[in-house]
Amino acid sequence: MEKLAVPGAVAVLVGWLLGRAPVINTHLHFNLYMILPVGGFLVSAALAWIAFQVARALEIPTHGQQVQLGLAACCVLGFAATDYGVYQSTDLPRQLKPDAPVTMVHAADVMSFSDYMAGIRLGASKLKLPAGFKLDAGSEVTTGVYVMDLLGAAGGAWAMLFLMATGLPFCEKCGKYKKPAGSLTIIFRDEDEVKNGHLSIKANLEKGYEAAIAWILRLRADQAGVNSGRYRMHFQELVCAVCSECTLVSTVEKRTGEDWDELTAKKFTATSPVGLGPKLTV
Ligand SMILES: [Zn+2]
Repeated sequence: MEKLAVPGAVAVLVGWLLGRAPVINTHLHFNLYMILPVGGFLVSAALAWIAFQVARALEIPTHGQQVQLGLAACCVLGFAATDYGVYQSTDLPRQLKPDAPVTMVHAADVMSFSDYMAGIRLGASKLKLPAGFKLDAGSEVTTGVYVMDLLGAAGGAWAMLFLMATGLPFCEKCGKYKKPAGSLTIIFRDEDEVKNGHLSIKANLEKGYEAAIAWILRLRADQAGVNSGRYRMHFQELVCAVCSECTLVSTVEKRTGEDWDELTAKKFTATSPVGLGPKLTV
């Protein structure tokens, strides 16, 4: 857990810097209808992406639930740290006497962070809603919206860490992230073709890693003439540089208009024996 100190601290630091960035810092808590915390989800997912990349560069494992929980907590803290950055860069109007000119002062010079959070950030405010509605909200409402933002941040960080850990596997034995070795894509015309292909690969996987790879290469040869279709399977092999153990990550995508949507239920990963090395590019 203590190894997470560096990626965790980077997530908090980047959050704080985002809070100090002009223009950007006014959109960090963007939400839809005060309930859907889009900003919290996206900002925290971005912090989790950065934290994961730092961990990967330092060969710090980010796999396993406890580690992911710890790192997600750092990302939520990083999202909360944006408010500290905003506090440090906020100016407030001040008028010392009724007829004196209004001057601007740094919020940080006249109040503590906790007073700023309680009195301004979570205080009563006018909320702008879609379609031009404005709402005079009490501090209970702003606090409720803030809590929703934090929950959104937790969801964003968790989703990103899960996604990254699946796509970039870690070799527990050697303490190394596996590196992309080879990849290939097979196109299928319709749902039946892709379903059969998927089932046959999984059936061969029960015979062993190499049998599954051989079947994938055979499927590629069979489908070689198919240049366009509504489905495609993508395979990527990632290899440990020390022990040559490979992880195969397989995804299925469906074409919707111009885009390809991943069918997450069809995603699977498989691990080769140690020393086998990458086989997809053969
Ligand atoms: Zn290894």
